[in-house]
Amino acid sequence: MAHLISPSMLSANFCNLAQDIEMINQSQADWFHIDVMDGVFVPNISFGLPVIESLRKTCGLVFDVHLMITEPERYAERFANAGADIITFHYEACADPAALIKKIRELGKKASISISPKTPAEAVLPFLSELDMVLVMTVEPGFGGQSFMADQLPKIAAFRKEIIKRNLKCHIEVDGGIGEKNVDLVVSN
Ligand code: ZN
Repeated sequence: MAHLISPSMLSANFCNLAQDIEMINQSQADWFHIDVMDGVFVPNISFGLPVIESLRKTCGLVFDVHLMITEPERYAERFANAGADIITFHYEACADPAALIKKIRELGKKASISISPKTPAEAVLPFLSELDMVLVMTVEPGFGGQSFMADQLPKIAAFRKEIIKRNLKCHIEVDGGIGEKNVDLVVSN
């Protein structure tokens, strides 16, 4: 099974984004993870559409956009137009996940659902066959610098088992508190 690395823009130096984008372009990163926070679904606010549009002009990597926003269906098209390649929305923030998956696909983008630590993997299983990716949060969404929650690891195993059983082409992304010390734990589940 292939493993990909998608470093988060939250770790960038916002005073000198161009330099950090150049570093990402030169690195072995597979994707670029872009965390959008709205101050409603999560307490923090990160950045929005104009920033992503600007980055798109200088970064050739896959834009892996993680929307931590309420009512993501209102903004999917605008994030697609801004340059997102993968659009991840939160199960907890969306009234009709099936409709939003369809809409993202119709926009020509890859569709993905994320679940917060308190949401069971079972919530997403009905949508799995339509998804390009499922994102397992290993911290509470909305803050950088939290410790990795190892109790979320069984969800990775549950998704992997289901994806193999049903022969689906769905990535599993794991997001939050991951570094050199625990990456082995993440990929071995
Ligand atoms: Zn994220």
